[in-house]
Amino acid sequence: MSQTVTLNNGVSMPIIGFGVFQIPADDTQAAVEAALAAGYRHLDTAAAYGNEEAVGAAITASGLPRADLFVTTKLWIQHAPTGSVENDTLRAFDTSLRRLGLDYLDLYLIHQPLGDYYSEWRAMQKVNQDGRARAIGVSNFHPDRLVDLIEHNEITPAVNQIETHPFHQRVADHEQMRERGVQLESWGPFAEGRNNLFTDPVLTAIAEAHGKSVAQVVLRWLVQREVVVIPKSVRPDRMAENLDVFDFALTEDQLKQIASLDAGASLFFDHRDPAMVTALGTRRID
Ligand code: NDP
Repeated sequence: MSQTVTLNNGVSMPIIGFGVFQIPADDTQAAVEAALAAGYRHLDTAAAYGNEEAVGAAITASGLPRADLFVTTKLWIQHAPTGSVENDTLRAFDTSLRRLGLDYLDLYLIHQPLGDYYSEWRAMQKVNQDGRARAIGVSNFHPDRLVDLIEHNEITPAVNQIETHPFHQRVADHEQMRERGVQLESWGPFAEGRNNLFTDPVLTAIAEAHGKSVAQVVLRWLVQREVVVIPKSVRPDRMAENLDVFDFALTEDQLKQIASLDAGASLFFDHRDPAMVTALGTRRID
C-alpha cells in the first residue's frame, strides 16, 4: 500500500496526515512539533480553527525543509466586506499564508459549501494557477454540489474532505468522486469516538486478530480504500500508533464486516439542514 496518493494535477499527497481541529491554540505548537517528530509530514488546519500561527511556529521550530511537508488550510465562508468575495478570498489566502509563515500552500480547501463559493473558487483557481497553492479543493460538499462546481469551472477540485468513518462510509460518494478524479479525504476518521467506536465489537475483534488497535484498524480500512486521512491526537503515543498501519492488511471478509457498520448518516451535522446552514453561514472569523 503506497503511503501517498497522486492528485488529479499530479501533486503527491501523503495518505496519512495530522489534523489539528479542536486543539487549543496554546497547545497546538507542542502537538504539531510532536507529530512532526513522530514522522507526520502532512498537516491539516483551517483559518476557522484559530491555530494556523501555532502550526506555522511548529513548522519553523522543526527545521524541516519546506519541500518535505504537505500543508493544508481552509478558507472560511467569505461575507464580502470589500464588496467582492473574490477579493476577500485572495485576502484570506494571504492572511492564512502569513499566519502559517509560508509562501505557498500544498492544498487550499473551501471549508463549507455555503455562501458564494463560486466566487471563492474563481479566486482559488488564480492562486492555484500562479503556484501559491499547489492544489485546491473543497470540503463538506455533497455530490450534487461537487458536480455543479466542476461543471461550471475550469479546475476540478483535487480533493473533497468529508466526514468518513465506519458509521458513515460514503461508498457512493467515493465512487462518484473517483469518476470525476476527486480524491476523498476523511475527516473524523474515529467519529471523534462517538457511537463507542473504540470499543465497537466488530472493530475490536478485527483489531485483536491482527494484534493492532481499533484506531489502527479504522485507519488501515481507510488507506486500503485509498482514502486520505488526518487523525487528530494530542498524545505522542497515539500519534505514533496512528501512523503505524502499513504492516498489515484487512482481508476481504474483514472489509465486509466493517461495511456492515455503515449507517449512512452523519454523526455530526447535516449541511442541508437550514438551521445548520444559518449557524455556519453567519459565523465570522476575522
Ligand atoms: P477524529 O475522528 O480524528 O478523533 C479525534 C479523537 O480521537 C480525539 O479525542 C483523540 O483523543 C482520539 N484519538 C486519536 N487517536 C486515538 C487512538 N489511537 N486511540 C484512541 N483515541 C484516539 O476527529 P477530528 O474531528 O479531530 O478529525 C480529524 C481531523 O479532521 C481534524 O483534526 C481536522 O483536521 C479535520 N476535520 C475537518 C472538518 C471539516 O469540516 N473539514 C471537520 C472535522 C475535522 P486525544 O487527542 O486525546 O488522543
